[in-house]
Amino acid sequence: MRRVESALDGATRLLLESARGASFEAVLLRAASGRTTLCVSIQAGCNAGCAFCATGRLGLRARLGLDDVLGQVVLGRRLAAAEGRHLRNLVFMGMGEPLFEEELLHAALARLVDPRGFGFGPRRVCVSTVGVPDAMVRLAARFPGVHQALSLHSAVPEVRAALIPTARAHELDALRDAVAEVARRTGGRVLVEVLLLAGRTDRPADEAALAAWLEGLPVHLNLIPYNPLAAAPALAPTPEPAARALAARFRARGVPTTLRRSLGADVAAACGTLAGAGPP
Ligand code: SF4
Repeated sequence: MRRVESALDGATRLLLESARGASFEAVLLRAASGRTTLCVSIQAGCNAGCAFCATGRLGLRARLGLDDVLGQVVLGRRLAAAEGRHLRNLVFMGMGEPLFEEELLHAALARLVDPRGFGFGPRRVCVSTVGVPDAMVRLAARFPGVHQALSLHSAVPEVRAALIPTARAHELDALRDAVAEVARRTGGRVLVEVLLLAGRTDRPADEAALAAWLEGLPVHLNLIPYNPLAAAPALAPTPEPAARALAARFRARGVPTTLRRSLGADVAAACGTLAGAGPP
């Protein structure tokens, strides 16, 4: 294991090697509130190919085993404890699409939320997906306490398909139905995440389509600032004043909305930037 510390905001990139020798990463996040979160990877690389994501550009390097996934949590706990911190939250937002590894994900979650296992409260665990409707509902059925976050990014079909190639397989209506069903089964709000890309996801037409898609759904909207990638020069972040104004307009529509802050930007640990430098 090699670690790279952020000088900006307390994020630590953990460069790891799987049991079979593949490089992958996890990220320990220390929020200003004192909360410690581990961003867990489910694959080494990823085959979803999202246009804005450094991991997607790697392709799927290797699949991980259960020990690789749980090993990240063991390590995260140990590192946090060495600093007098308590690893409180887990987010499956690292490398890989969790619902492409459904069996592995369920096996890991079963141990993580087992009081005789790792003992995480299900509400302390969040699984982020680009959206596989049937698998989202199965996850909610087996682990109703576990939060789900849908990386929607756009409610305009052609924009979403350009950003998330695998999105072409699933209609936005089917995703909407899945979100409603997940919320019903979990009794909580589903996180819907939208990456703020200038001229792609922040235009008036994008806002209108998103507002219509969200109408009546029990969701919390997370607007996520984009971390520019050298490999994707056509994509640029929405300027911060426009991002704040967009968040305020969704709140005014009655949609609970957070404009997120991304941790770890200086060590390539922020959302969409894990690129697998790997262990030395
Ligand atoms: S955003 Fe997630 S699903 Fe998309 S390529 Fe990156 S790691 Fe894979």
